[in-house]
Amino acid sequence: MPPILQHLVEMTGHRDHLRLEVSVLTTLLQLGRSMEVRALEFFFSDAHVMVRPRSWSQHGQIISSECEAVADPARGALANMPELAACIRDRCASAVRSSAGSHALWLPVWINDKAHGCLEIIQPTPFTRRQRDVITGIFQVYQNYQNLLDYSERDALTGLLNRKTFEEQFVRSAQPGPEFGLPEPNAQDWPQQWLAVIDIDHFKQVNDVYGHLYGDEVLILVANLLRSSFRAHDRIFRFGGEEFVVLLRSTTLGNAAQAFERFRATVQEHMFPQIGGITVSIGFTSAIDGAPVEVLGRADQALYYAKARGRNQVRFYDELLQQGEVQSQITHGEIELF
Ligand code: GH3
Ligand code: MG
Ligand code: MG
Repeated sequence: MPPILQHLVEMTGHRDHLRLEVSVLTTLLQLGRSMEVRALEFFFSDAHVMVRPRSWSQHGQIISSECEAVADPARGALANMPELAACIRDRCASAVRSSAGSHALWLPVWINDKAHGCLEIIQPTPFTRRQRDVITGIFQVYQNYQNLLDYSERDALTGLLNRKTFEEQFVRSAQPGPEFGLPEPNAQDWPQQWLAVIDIDHFKQVNDVYGHLYGDEVLILVANLLRSSFRAHDRIFRFGGEEFVVLLRSTTLGNAAQAFERFRATVQEHMFPQIGGITVSIGFTSAIDGAPVEVLGRADQALYYAKARGRNQVRFYDELLQQGEVQSQITHGEIELF
């Protein structure tokens, strides 16, 4: 089988976005010796569209920000890439930028009429017609396949991951990265995984006073704030209604508490059109031991504690447990249903 076909077969064998992305970048990398390829991700921050790389080539290998060994990649405004920005605005299939010794080709990934990101290919020589044909063909197979995967994994309103994918993502991220051993008990400054349940306060009132359409708009805006507040390798889910779950990967307790508190403050300070201010309550817990349902249950207990104590606050389950403010729900190794 010709190598390109072989790569396509391998690419479409993946049931997972990241592997699919790494696979398409690897395939593209085979097309030119001096090529550099990246998968860029778009997100909103302060009403600006931002860009950050999610996976990229380095010395002929594909590196991904999803693997713990990599620091959060630098982000920049899409406006600083005028050719790409114009392409997104005009819904073009591709954009190019040519300067002496550097030729860039961008291929936006359109999912449900929204550009979620794009592939970037850079080489020192201009792209030949044949190169572009082959690249476009590979890209189209990739995009169709991404669309299929996405449809099954994402929440239609906010574009966040849906509840169905939670367990798989949880199990995957709970595996410690190669550079970390298993954390020692009570090693608070050791990078770990943390899980937060975030619930909008008095959201029913938003619907009751302003109507469901405004309610939906708030959910979309909160989802955007979530996307811009957390790092590329964190995982954000809409769990249903006005409840979100964030899985923070490989960070210390101090950083996790700070990140959740910063998000709470960001929501409080944000002005939502028509509605004005809203707040969120957050419960979080360590996510390195226990089945997903147990970890969720613990974060939920901390969330309900926050709700009962006046809302608009962040509560840490493990601390509440230590203080005797909540009771462990696990008895004799079984989970009580609550
Ligand atoms: P609390 O502070 O205790 O969380 O109060 P709350 O009003 O936010 O909580 P409750 O769970 O009673 O209400 C959640 C509301 O979320 C009920 C429903 O009207 C609304 N809701 C759930 N899903 C959607 C949705 O997809 N769109 C909109 N607009 N509203 C939704
Ligand atoms: Mg609520
Ligand atoms: Mg709720």
